Amino acid sequence: MANVESPLSPELLRSMRAWRHDLHAHPETAFCEFRTSDLVARELERAGARVHRGLGGTGVVGTLARGDGPVIGLRADMDALDMQELSGAAHRSTIPGKMHGCGHDGHTAMLLGAAHHLAADPGWRGTLHLIFQPAEEHAGGGLAMVKDGLFDQFPCDAVYALHNSPNLPFGTMATRVGTVMANCDTYEITVTGKGCHAAQPEHGVDPVVAAAQLVTAMQTIVSRNVKPTDALALSITQIHAGDTWNVVPNSVLLRGSCRTLTAATRELAERRLREVCAGVALTSGASIDVQMFRGYPACVNTAAQVDLAARAAARVVGADKVDAACTPRMGSEDFAYMLEQRPGAYVFFGAARPDADNPPVHNPYYDFNDDILPLGAQYWVELVKIAMPA
Ligand SMILES: [Zn+2]
Ligand SMILES: [Zn+2]
Repeated sequence: MANVESPLSPELLRSMRAWRHDLHAHPETAFCEFRTSDLVARELERAGARVHRGLGGTGVVGTLARGDGPVIGLRADMDALDMQELSGAAHRSTIPGKMHGCGHDGHTAMLLGAAHHLAADPGWRGTLHLIFQPAEEHAGGGLAMVKDGLFDQFPCDAVYALHNSPNLPFGTMATRVGTVMANCDTYEITVTGKGCHAAQPEHGVDPVVAAAQLVTAMQTIVSRNVKPTDALALSITQIHAGDTWNVVPNSVLLRGSCRTLTAATRELAERRLREVCAGVALTSGASIDVQMFRGYPACVNTAAQVDLAARAAARVVGADKVDAACTPRMGSEDFAYMLEQRPGAYVFFGAARPDADNPPVHNPYYDFNDDILPLGAQYWVELVKIAMPA
């Protein structure tokens, strides 16, 4: 399948697998990647990189410099999830309630493998920043590194990142120019009525009925306000109200998630959400308070870097296995904060095991597919050689 032989030595391939299993057995979550960043820093130093620690908390940057030339940043994420692993793998999590359920253990191992290989490979020239970020899952470790001066201390012409994808066939790569991952916002709505006896609704203002109208009316934002060819996922994920049978509660709390691919749809969804709430408040007599919380912005790839990423991946998996115009995903990714600062490309590497059940990421049975370790590391190597020719 691959167009070229893996340039990585068998010993390095074994090391990558060992790091991956070690990290998987010792998962650490947002900004607590202490042991993980120790391993990363140790291996970067062993590869001969100049190592800077403590950027954005537990973030690590390793620099390999070889004369004048382009300056490129490659990013891996290091954090795990707050969930219980149920896989029976020999390298399963040893920490209750924490698990590498998204494959960031594999991403870290692949970039370390590439660092070791590139340190000894004469086929490139310039400055390479190997960026290991904390807290990708929800706490914004990428933003923390940017705020901490990532690109002031380590200026990059372009930045790149990859994510494994167990729902894409093994040995494929997918990406696209423009938005590849969504804006991820959340909201909280408080409907306040006037509590009363369940037998005497005429003495109160029922916030449950108002909330029910709201749930239905909100879906008209998706179906009637947003252009059918644009994307909006507006989900109500929590409704909390009432404690007993014979009391109409005083208030109802609703929470949910709003995912969009463009700034215009993001603005439209927020404006219409407020307007629908104001309308239901008017007709129900309840007062409705809306709080919107902006989360990770959309992950936006630039054309030249997508082209370069696609060429690098083609060398690894073959051009027929590269989809450089995939559909965007409604998930989110805090590499977006780095892409707001620099041109770059975020790509998916297919990791589905043939003829096997492939639990998705964030599933308790998920385990990163070690068979893509060589492909991911080789992708980094080929990318560097194309972007930073000797
Ligand atoms: Zn994840
Ligand atoms: Zn992830």
